[in-house]
Amino acid sequence: MTEPAKELTAKEIKKRKRRQPPPDPTPLPGLVDAHTHLAACGGRSEEDVRAILDHAESVGVEQVVTVADDMVDARWAVAAAHWDQRAFAAVGLHPTHAADLDDAAKAELEEMAADPRVVAIGETGLDYYWTTRSDDCADPSVQREAFAWHIDLAKRSGKPLMIHNREADRDLLDVLAAEGAPATVIMHCFSGTPEIARECVDLGYVLSFSGTVTFNNSTELREAAHLTPDELILVETDAPFLTPHPYRGQPNQSYCIPYTARALAQVRGVSDEQMADTLGSNARKLYSLPLR
Ligand SMILES: [Zn+2]
Ligand SMILES: [Zn+2]
Repeated sequence: MTEPAKELTAKEIKKRKRRQPPPDPTPLPGLVDAHTHLAACGGRSEEDVRAILDHAESVGVEQVVTVADDMVDARWAVAAAHWDQRAFAAVGLHPTHAADLDDAAKAELEEMAADPRVVAIGETGLDYYWTTRSDDCADPSVQREAFAWHIDLAKRSGKPLMIHNREADRDLLDVLAAEGAPATVIMHCFSGTPEIARECVDLGYVLSFSGTVTFNNSTELREAAHLTPDELILVETDAPFLTPHPYRGQPNQSYCIPYTARALAQVRGVSDEQMADTLGSNARKLYSLPLR
């Protein structure tokens, strides 16, 4: 006797849908994912990385910057950037892991920063969200010290500084001003108000927009994206999180970038192709990526 087909409850259907990757967007050539985490997207081996990047390339996402959170991740990111010509690395300790920045970590990060496949220092910055929610998160004073060290490394290596900022706008801008900002500062997953956006672009900082700019309740963020000058805007996934609307909550990957790029085009009143060209050429210029 065969088992009767089990009916799926509405909750189960919803749960299954959340695990499903979003469909491929219509291709939009020339794009670069300015900030992703390939390892967290399921990239373990060289083959995994190639598969993720093949998928991205099939919809026009030609290059990606994979960003480290901790030392293990940093070593992996550098390796991945050597496996595949479409991947580049950013190395640093995430502010939540700032307490790991001992002399050995500093020496190793300095060595990595000299690698030609490493195109940025970070993600570094301040995260005040997790300080009150996780026992493992570094204290603000420890974060600040590590942030200053990364700022200095970016200046010495001549590579862009990749900033993570969560609920720390004022302190973050103050530390940058006090330490002296490096030539290129990238505010990854920009999520501030239009006022903070204005302040950043007036200082020449680059704003990198993620899928959050497509969310229904992100009116202020779209205002920020609207006021950002052409030469200071980037697009990123921060995958595997922050999947653009209407796939919010489903797994994100670099191939989803065209959804966010199209949303930015709409906000800024330009064609999708023109937006992709601006976003792609900015990333190539800011990270000094080779032309493909
Ligand atoms: Zn971040
Ligand atoms: Zn990130």
